[in-house]
Amino acid sequence: MSSELVIVYHRQPYEEVEEDGKTVLRENKSPNGIVPTLKSFFGSVDRGAWIAWKLADDPSNPGFEQVVEIEDEHGKYSVSRLPLSPDQVREFYHVTSKEAFWPILHSFKERYNYDPVDWPNFRQVNWQFAEAAAAEAAENALVWIHDYNLWLVPGYLRKLRPDLRIAFFHHTPFPAADMFNVLPWRREIVESLLACDVVGFHIPRYADNFVSVARSLLEVDVIERVKVGEDMISEGTALTERQVPTRIRYHDHEIAISVAPAGVDVEFIESRAKAAENLERAAAIREDLGDCKLVLSVGRTDYTKGGVEQLASFERLLEQRPELIGKVRLMHVSVSANRNMVAYNEVQEAIESTAGRINGRFGTLEWQPISLISRAIPFSELVAYYQSADVAWITPLADGMNLVAKEFVASRTDGDGVLVLSEFAGAAVEMGSAVITNPFSNRSMDTAISLALEMPEAERRTRMKELRRIVGLHDIRFWADAIRVSFDEAGGLKGVRPAA
Ligand code: UDP
Repeated sequence: MSSELVIVYHRQPYEEVEEDGKTVLRENKSPNGIVPTLKSFFGSVDRGAWIAWKLADDPSNPGFEQVVEIEDEHGKYSVSRLPLSPDQVREFYHVTSKEAFWPILHSFKERYNYDPVDWPNFRQVNWQFAEAAAAEAAENALVWIHDYNLWLVPGYLRKLRPDLRIAFFHHTPFPAADMFNVLPWRREIVESLLACDVVGFHIPRYADNFVSVARSLLEVDVIERVKVGEDMISEGTALTERQVPTRIRYHDHEIAISVAPAGVDVEFIESRAKAAENLERAAAIREDLGDCKLVLSVGRTDYTKGGVEQLASFERLLEQRPELIGKVRLMHVSVSANRNMVAYNEVQEAIESTAGRINGRFGTLEWQPISLISRAIPFSELVAYYQSADVAWITPLADGMNLVAKEFVASRTDGDGVLVLSEFAGAAVEMGSAVITNPFSNRSMDTAISLALEMPEAERRTRMKELRRIVGLHDIRFWADAIRVSFDEAGGLKGVRPAA
């Protein structure tokens, strides 16, 4: 009961690796992810705690220490690992979160799978997270909960510990009421979120959608609404919103609605991009390409990422513009994160068969139009590809933010390169200087990639300059600052609850 800040995030804040038969904790391999930034918040408090889960064959006898103490560059904090059985994890994470919530959050009603959901298990797991957070939190502490897997935690926590200040951040899109209300547990989820002091989103549209969902189900008043700043408006694009609710009231409780667009660590990426070994690697990639243009596509294997639709557009490009045969190559990186799930295996197979067909149709011994890569590329290597690409082609059908687009721009210290970006990625509201495309329209997709390949250097540079301005401004520190401001609304990191 002594931590002033408790972070509740389903993953542990480090990697566990076996070394000489012993388990050691190591900083996450991906230095650019959000986890280091979350941990940096521990630097502002005397003591912090992190709550996550860890697989245990027998949760009553997990065979590992449930609470470990960490002291690193971020400060002193404990990590509580909730032991969950393989069945609990499957039900809570792979079924309820990934088969029911994920498709709805990304507006894929047809992928939504209700039948296998074990709701009592979801409640039980969320309750365990809430109990663990309650056990760690000091009087008036701030508890910061992340993502839809943990939607019921705020409500339980408020009952267990009315003194706490509770913040929640969504890393995904949040859909409008017509979509969200497909979930039969909608009222329970929204009532839980309304127990928070702060609810956060990447962009104004998701915040606005959340408030409209809440108002569709409960007596919620909007007590403040503000104009969206210029840097979050990309004229005429699908996710742009001009006003955003910032404060709502439910019963006598006021909730701050915060918008904080996740960014990337621009300083870190630029230092990688400028490192000699990286420049050499990029030069070697360019040499291998000869006079071929490189189009780069990077993402997780997920139906939301629109991989198959993108490959189909590439096929039409080669059909309609035969002069590009032998002159352009697509490097399509699609990494499987959920190998055991039917939906993701289906997407993987569709990507493989489509790419195979296109290579068979157009390829020669000397030239293959598509290089399909299914393994994760280490980030440092990815930067060299970002630097070598003529075009980054990022066309998800739905995406909370899309950090790949921002990483590409941050890597382009040379000021060149074209970004083609789907207007259904959250990042599109900030990155209007990209070639914006609508992935639901063949014509829009085909025109955008053609335009990108033909774009004159002067235009490429003008657009990239503006993109680099916004990615530099809305970097990971900007995100952290926006979060801190939202915490201030709830009394600050070390604050006390403001008098009602
Ligand atoms: N990534 C990587 N290697 C790969 C593919 C992706 O390191 O081969 C990283 C990429 O650099 C980015 C993250 O995975 O930081 C993907 O984040 P994004 O927001 O684009 O998509 P998400 O997977 O979170 O939906």
